[in-house]
Amino acid sequence: MSQARLSPGVVPGRLTPQQLAANFVDVAPPLDRHEAHVAADRCYFCHDAPCITACPTSIDIPLFIRQIATDTPDAAAMTIFHANILGGMCARVCPTEQLCEGACVRMEAEGKPVEIGALQRYATDGLMAKRVHPFRRAPQTGRSVAVVGAGPAGLAAAHRLAAKGHDVTIFEARPKPGGLNEYGIASYKAVDGFAQAEVDWIIGIGGMELRHDQVLGRDITLDGLRAEYDAVFLGMGLGGVNALRAEGEDRRHVLDAVSFIRDLRQASDLTTLPVGRDVVVIGGGMTAIDAAVQARLLGAENVTIVYRRGQDRMGASRHEQDHATASGVRIICDAAPVTLHGNGAVAEIEFAYTEDGPDGLKLTENRFRLRADQVFRAIGQRLDGAPPELQLIDGKIAVSAHGRTSLDGVWAGGDCAAGGNDLTVTAVAQGRDAAEDIDARLTGRPVEIPG
Ligand SMILES: Cc1cc2nc3c(=O)[nH]c(=O)nc-3n(C[C@H](O)[C@H](O)[C@H](O)COP(=O)(O)OP(=O)(O)OC[C@H]3O[C@@H](n4cnc5c(N)ncnc54)[C@H](O)[C@@H]3O)c2cc1C
Ligand code: SF4
Repeated sequence: MSQARLSPGVVPGRLTPQQLAANFVDVAPPLDRHEAHVAADRCYFCHDAPCITACPTSIDIPLFIRQIATDTPDAAAMTIFHANILGGMCARVCPTEQLCEGACVRMEAEGKPVEIGALQRYATDGLMAKRVHPFRRAPQTGRSVAVVGAGPAGLAAAHRLAAKGHDVTIFEARPKPGGLNEYGIASYKAVDGFAQAEVDWIIGIGGMELRHDQVLGRDITLDGLRAEYDAVFLGMGLGGVNALRAEGEDRRHVLDAVSFIRDLRQASDLTTLPVGRDVVVIGGGMTAIDAAVQARLLGAENVTIVYRRGQDRMGASRHEQDHATASGVRIICDAAPVTLHGNGAVAEIEFAYTEDGPDGLKLTENRFRLRADQVFRAIGQRLDGAPPELQLIDGKIAVSAHGRTSLDGVWAGGDCAAGGNDLTVTAVAQGRDAAEDIDARLTGRPVEIPG
């Protein structure tokens, strides 16, 4: 953004480099060996463990925790990677309180689950630090697969297909791979360039070619890919952002939260990022929380999230909400923006309180205003540029078992596919399962899906 167009309230360098470095440290520092053993010893190694069912990639959690407890962390890492090749990133970003840890019997009994995410990170970081790819490719099959999108879904599919001996070409629109792991996940969840290090490590298996600046619909077509490759997997995520539909939305300093987060993730110097004094984030999901918390960490004085329904309906987990409030973010529920006021740049937002009734959400005449020199829209993303020949459901690609689309020979998974829950780990599971199905189609081998 040009500095000349900034308003007095939206400035870079609100904090010193030292303050910013301290603010953006790892939110959940890794366990050391002793801490990992203490944490592993709390596991009951349940038969029919509920945590396995709660993990979308069905990692054998009691097994990997037992392997940590018996001091074989590399074996634990292999247990994780067999089910989830992005187990390193998932250990950092999974909302574990809603997934594996939420199902842990010690959570039920004592309100304190086994720290599954932290243990997963302990095991996977240890093996990845050895910088040797631990899987070997099966003999080459002579079959080739095109993967569109190098996000978690595309990478998980590509890795499994390459492992099974197929030649994989990944077509990625952006200059860097990783998808939202690189451009979306909050900085403090994946520090020290972990997203790129993980991609390099995954690609280390061989058999994958990554082509950048290749946009489906611009540089390549689905028909072209179907003609050239034996199968196609689409893992293109959600590129579009929903509009607020409030008057004055086009004022300066009203931005998409995902663009703000992307710029933050790619900034080599956080002191150059302009941030407002009074920041308002509109939305109730993880993106809203991440934008709000990171605006605070950049030095915004007042940060408020405004969500149109009740707090219990927010997409962000309670843990994420608590993280936001502990970071000094205020959350206002049951209110929706009506008008964004200001002279060129936004200065204030008028909200109406809402009522959620049997006929849906209604704006009431009860209004209030918030000062805002920077506003982030975080009200959901949508699929842009889906190939027109594919059937869609609710704006996403319709898929049946293992990600089969309405077109023969084309699979889809991750955020762009209908029926998911827009989590990294779900994208990984869907990419992996589609790859198994593609392999079964190409070779007649049985599908191998954990769980
Ligand atoms: C701000 C934010 C924070 C989040 N935080 C969390 C979190 O903490 N934990 C969590 O579990 N989930 C989180 N999520 C959700 C999670 O990031 C996604 O569910 C996950 O990244 C989906 O993976 P994907 O591979 O389907 O899509 P993406 O990660 O979006 O990857 C899609 C890839 O396809 C490429 N692409 C798109 N269109 C084309 C095209 N036409 N041609 C070629 N390539 C294309 C894109 O450039 C991208 O690299 C967050 C999401 C956002 C937006
Ligand atoms: S991948 Fe996520 S949900 Fe599954 S065990 Fe690991 S931290 Fe839990």
